[in-house]
Amino acid sequence: MKLADDQGNTYKAHFYHSSMNNLGVRLWPRTECRLHLDPCVLTTALCTAQPAGVGIAVCSRRDEFRKATGRKIALSRAMLDLGIERATRAKLWEDYLEQVRLG
Ligand SMILES: [Zn+2]
Repeated sequence: MKLADDQGNTYKAHFYHSSMNNLGVRLWPRTECRLHLDPCVLTTALCTAQPAGVGIAVCSRRDEFRKATGRKIALSRAMLDLGIERATRAKLWEDYLEQVRLG
């Protein structure tokens, strides 16, 4: 997903969901968001562009997994991890919520 701020920057947000480790063992469902400014680096299925903010949301055992909630938590953590300031975060959220609303 591309998210635009009001300074002409476009951030790329990638969401990765998993509920299994690479040995096939079930884990609590988790969502990872990788957020970055520069072009994507897609040498594998995972974008490895740097610098990137990374945010992880893990569903607790008492919660029902909700994809939308996992994405929001992971994205908000990725924004903080990348050190995006508050006003810019607000713009990115506006863009995010608009795109989610439009599907
Ligand atoms: Zn990317």
